[in-house]
Amino acid sequence: MSWGFESEPEVAAELEWVEEFVRDEIEPVDLVVEHAWNPRDPVRNALIKPLQEKVKERRLWACHLGPELGGEGYGQLRLALLNEKLGRTHSGPVVFGCQAPDSGNAEILAHYGTDHLKKAYLEPLIAGDIVSSFSMTEPHGGSDPTGFRTTAVLDGDEWVINGEKWFSSHALFAEFLIVMAVTEPDAEPHRSMSMFVVPADTPGIERVRDTSVWGHEEPVGTHQYLRYTDVRIPAENILGERGEGFAVAQTRLGGGRIHHAMRTVGLVTAAFEMMKRRAVSRTSKGRRLADQQLVQAMIADTWIELTQFRLLVLQTAWRIDRYQDYRKVRADIAAVKAAMPKVLADAAGRAIQIHGSLGISKELPFGKWVLESYHMGLADGATEVHKVNLAQALLRSTQPDDGLFPPYILPTRRAESRERYAEVLAAAADDGETP
Ligand SMILES: Cc1cc2nc3c(=O)[nH]c(=O)nc-3n(C[C@H](O)[C@H](O)[C@H](O)COP(=O)(O)OP(=O)(O)OC[C@H]3O[C@@H](n4cnc5c(N)ncnc54)[C@H](O)[C@@H]3O)c2cc1C
Repeated sequence: MSWGFESEPEVAAELEWVEEFVRDEIEPVDLVVEHAWNPRDPVRNALIKPLQEKVKERRLWACHLGPELGGEGYGQLRLALLNEKLGRTHSGPVVFGCQAPDSGNAEILAHYGTDHLKKAYLEPLIAGDIVSSFSMTEPHGGSDPTGFRTTAVLDGDEWVINGEKWFSSHALFAEFLIVMAVTEPDAEPHRSMSMFVVPADTPGIERVRDTSVWGHEEPVGTHQYLRYTDVRIPAENILGERGEGFAVAQTRLGGGRIHHAMRTVGLVTAAFEMMKRRAVSRTSKGRRLADQQLVQAMIADTWIELTQFRLLVLQTAWRIDRYQDYRKVRADIAAVKAAMPKVLADAAGRAIQIHGSLGISKELPFGKWVLESYHMGLADGATEVHKVNLAQALLRSTQPDDGLFPPYILPTRRAESRERYAEVLAAAADDGETP
């Protein structure tokens, strides 16, 4: 039996190097780079590319991928420990080649892409030379993908795509988009869609709006509202079989959701560390904030919630490595995804409160992190949907009881025990002992 909560010495040493690298090299870059995903920004390229080279030399590049794809085959548990370190930064995931949505898109291409698609898109994506976008949500509703209306129709040796997509993050910078579209309108909803690789410069793709979000101060919004009008792509650009779009989507969304959670552990840890430092440094009425019981409660609650969440994330990562099948850990991933926004919102909110006016000011990042928690509650699916999925999975194998009262009420169980131990009880009664 093995059961432990410590990293092996070589992993611990690697994580220590990452911690220092994040602190000394990535955090300073974060303060001057506008958007780490933008490969057309010369400042970003001048500062981030050399760091990416260092990570490659250190053999920590694209750790989410197996060695056959240029990654280190780290496994999700080690990746979780790495992502915890990167999570407090904006550029960290890009510097380590494991950023969303590219990490998930690379997994899809690796599983389902033809040799040509792998050469044209997967190789430069993994090398960090290009970025990509995932174009699935539609303007009339994202929570019910069975209601998507974008279509792809085969015309000779080309697919022709028509429809609208909403919140296609980073489409602005992307070299290609992965698009979900209805190809089998008469099939049952979960077999009606397929997934495609669409080069971003294909005629017919229109940027309707560059939507931006509160909390991200970008000169141009990076969550694109896109219209596809008679967009023609080669027949081979389909990923997987016709009608397999939902199965293909699961390949990327499972990993993507847990990677966000791993990074969130890093953000919450950063908020917690700053809360503690402020609590022991600031005084009010001659006492440290740390000596006020209500402040102590905030510190204690944050540590408890952070540790519970972290253990859930690590256990889920461990189960992914163990089963090598996302279908077997869907409920775990739904639980992690549903827990994540609240843990972050509560920690960032308490960090604001403990820092007072400084906490809510733009001189500290907590306000941005509160908003980030709402991003987490929507991106890759709304919290409510994940809770429903989790509850359904937990209840699926539970059998209903017959009868007015459940068989586990104490009078019933006590009567069963009395019957089972009748001889012992009778002997004790004969000896004059009252049971
Ligand atoms: C920062 C960010 C980045 C994103 N990036 C991408 C991207 O790159 N590509 C992409 O395709 N999409 C992306 N999205 C979109 C995301 O997938 C959707 O926001 C999400 O699926 C919810 O869809 P919706 O926004 O249309 O909300 P709706 O579907 O309109 O739902 C609104 C609310 O209704 C409630 N609700 C809906 N359904 C149920 C239900 N079954 N049970 C209970 N309550 C329910 C929930 O409270 C939900 O929040 C991103 C979103 C955000 C916030």
